Amino acid sequence: MRKPLVAGNWKMNSPDESSKTLLENILHDSKMLDSILKEQENASAIDIALFPPSVFLREAQEILTGSNLHWGTQNVSAYDEGPYTGEISASMIKNFGCDYVLIGHSERRCLYEKLELDQFVLDQIVAEKYTMATRHGLSPIICIGETAEDYEAGKTEEVIARLLDVLIKHQGAKALSQTVLAYEPVWAIGTGKSATPEWAQEVHAFMRERVAQSDTETAESLRIIYGGSVKKENARAIFAKPDVDGGLIGGASLDVDQFIKICFAAALKEAG
Ligand code: PEP
Repeated sequence: MRKPLVAGNWKMNSPDESSKTLLENILHDSKMLDSILKEQENASAIDIALFPPSVFLREAQEILTGSNLHWGTQNVSAYDEGPYTGEISASMIKNFGCDYVLIGHSERRCLYEKLELDQFVLDQIVAEKYTMATRHGLSPIICIGETAEDYEAGKTEEVIARLLDVLIKHQGAKALSQTVLAYEPVWAIGTGKSATPEWAQEVHAFMRERVAQSDTETAESLRIIYGGSVKKENARAIFAKPDVDGGLIGGASLDVDQFIKICFAAALKEAG
């Protein structure tokens, strides 16, 4: 069985409480969640990862080291080192004790889109970052999703297949076993309009099948999480779907109560 993952993307938000307090509160409540789960027969263990802005990584490392929580960055450079102002390399990220890194989030892709780069070129950049992350022992969470325009035009599968094929071409399908895929329909991110559980399941099953065409074993073990307006109210129904292995949570990850309830929903996945 795949271990569910719940990832909290703080984006470029300063939490209402200080970042230190938010990290401490999430850690505290996640420990309470752990003890509840131990007593709950139908709950399974989950992974939780936090993605604060990089300026808070030192705090994350100090507060979370030795706990069950993981942390990571919201981006990584495609280069090892050099004159890349504003970028952070995979080895620097690793030095902060990070296990994960987000790659290809649509809120970053749209920065490149302003440069009017072709989507295929953007997918290549994502693949280069992916290669860099895995080379340094980081687990990438690679975000894929269609815009509202693509959705209306029925191009969801085309958009997703294009990136998956590029990733597979770069490192082979086996390398995806160190990776998490996040289906994040752009129209659902930060809009309050989540995908239905049925739609998420359909797209996740398509993604798994696409990887299975190259490697069935990797496809079976690959975690595919859903992101886009997940809240405590809709998490359980979305996570209950067989090919949904947890969630990438934006806005709700800044609210400890919401976030921990979403984690709880992921732990109850098998209960349906
Ligand atoms: C995200 O930032 O990846 C995200 C899914 O945001 P939200 O949960 O706010 O829609």
